[in-house]
Amino acid sequence: MNESDFERAALFAERERDNALAKHKSAMASQCKGSDTCQDCGGPIPAARRAAVNTVFCVECQGINERLRA
Ligand SMILES: [Zn+2]
Repeated sequence: MNESDFERAALFAERERDNALAKHKSAMASQCKGSDTCQDCGGPIPAARRAAVNTVFCVECQGINERLRA
């Protein structure tokens, strides 16, 4: 993989993430917010999830982040 391939891949990943987040944010905007909110989208993090894992991301944002890191 040369440098420009890498840059293209990075740009693509960034665009994918932005698209996914934008979709997620608009979905979350119509729901009421919990007291603990996702650092990425501002959506609520369920209490059960907060108890199980120490996280600042909701399930969907966590998944997006993990997919991009892999
Ligand atoms: Zn989120």
